[in-house]
Amino acid sequence: MRPAGNAISERTQLVYQIVNPLQQFFFDSSWAKRFGDPDICDFTIGNPHDTPMAAFTEALQRWTLPQDKYWYSYKMNEAKARDVVAASLAKSHDLPFRPEDIFLTNGSIAALAVVLDMIIDPEDEVIFISPPWFLYEAMIVNAGGKAVKVKMDIDTFDLDLAAISSAMNHKTRAVIVNSPHNPTGKIYPKATLQELSEIMDSASTRNGRTVHLISDEAYRRIVFDGRQYLSPATFYPHTFLVYTYGKVLLAPGQRIGYVALPPHMPEAEQLRKAMQAVQMIKGWSFPNALLQHALGDLEQISVDMKHLQQKRDRLVGALQEQGYQVYRPEGTFYVMVRSPWDDDAKFVDLLNSYDIFCIPGTLMDFPGYFRLSLTASNDMIHRAIPKFAKAFNQAAQS
Ligand code: PMP
Repeated sequence: MRPAGNAISERTQLVYQIVNPLQQFFFDSSWAKRFGDPDICDFTIGNPHDTPMAAFTEALQRWTLPQDKYWYSYKMNEAKARDVVAASLAKSHDLPFRPEDIFLTNGSIAALAVVLDMIIDPEDEVIFISPPWFLYEAMIVNAGGKAVKVKMDIDTFDLDLAAISSAMNHKTRAVIVNSPHNPTGKIYPKATLQELSEIMDSASTRNGRTVHLISDEAYRRIVFDGRQYLSPATFYPHTFLVYTYGKVLLAPGQRIGYVALPPHMPEAEQLRKAMQAVQMIKGWSFPNALLQHALGDLEQISVDMKHLQQKRDRLVGALQEQGYQVYRPEGTFYVMVRSPWDDDAKFVDLLNSYDIFCIPGTLMDFPGYFRLSLTASNDMIHRAIPKFAKAFNQAAQS
C-alpha cells in the first residue's frame, strides 16, 4: 500500500499552527461552551447582542424582491454598488474615487486575502503591527509571504515608526496598518501617517519597487467624541484601502466590504485588470447579489454611535473607579484593560467564574491586558460592573 503522506500542505500546516489558538478559543474555551447563555456577560468579540437594526433588516427585505430576470444571476463588481462606494469614499476621504477602482468583497477578510494574493511573490515580506487583528499573520503566510511583526509603541499605542523603518528590507512588499486600531482603539494621528508615508516612499525608492500600504479601515465609522478619521490613503498614494460594513452595521454575518484603489495611485490601471481575476479565483470573493443590490440603503445605516459611546463611558468610568487601569478608546468596539495580575489568562479565568467573558491579551500578543467589546448589551454591562469590582478586590487580596 502506498503511504498516505501528509494530506495537508506545508503552508497550510503553518497557517493552521498560527490560527489554532484562536480556533481553540472560539470552539473549546469556557466562553465557547456558554455562548448564548443568558446569564453570561459577553464582552468577547464584536458580535451583536441586541436585535439587529430594523433599518438593516428592512433594507434586506426590500431588496430581496427581484426587479428583473437577472436579479440573482452571477454577480461580480456590480456597477450600482461601485457607484455607492465611490460616492461614499469621495465624501469621507475627500478624494475623487472612481467606481472602476472599487472591488466588492465578502467583508474585509476577503478584501485582505485578495490584496495579499495579488501582490506577494515568494519570499516577499509583509509587515504587520502587533498587537494585531487575529488573522493578518496567517493570511500573509497563506498568500506565500513572510509575516514580519513590529510592535506598536507600548506607551502611546501609536505606530513605532523607527521600528517599522528598521524592519524594512529589500524584500518588504507591504505594510498593513489598521486605524482605528483593534484592539487598542487608537486612531493614528496625521503626523504619524505623514511620517509613515515618507518612510514608505524612501523604502520604495531604495528597493526599486513599490512598497504598498494596506489600510484596514474596518472601524473607520466607529469613532468617538466627534473625532475625524484620517486615512493613510490621503498621504500615501500606493495604498489599498480595505473596508467592511460588518462593523458599522453590526452584522458581521452578512458579509460585504471592498478594496478601493485611491484615484492618485499610479499603478491603479495595472492592478484594476488583475483584481477582478483574483477575486474570481479566490473563491468568487464577491458579496452575494442581495447585499450588492441593497448597498445604497445599507450605506445610510449605522450603529447608534451615541449609544455606543455611552456604553464606553459607562464601562471605562466604572472600571477606572474600581481601580483598573483602562485605555479610553478613540474608536472601535474595544476597550483594553490592564490585568491586575500579570497572568492575564488567569485573571480572565477569574472573570469567567463571575460569568464575565472577554479576550485575554495573550491571545492577541498583548500580555498583561484583556480586551472588552462594547457590543455587549446594556444589560450585560449593568450586571458585569459589580462583578468586575469583586474580581478586582479578589485579585488585590491574593
Ligand atoms: N480587520 C479588523 C481590524 C477587524 O477587527 C475585523 C473584524 N473583527 C476584520 C478586519 C474583519 O472584518 P469582517 O469579518 O467584517 O470582514
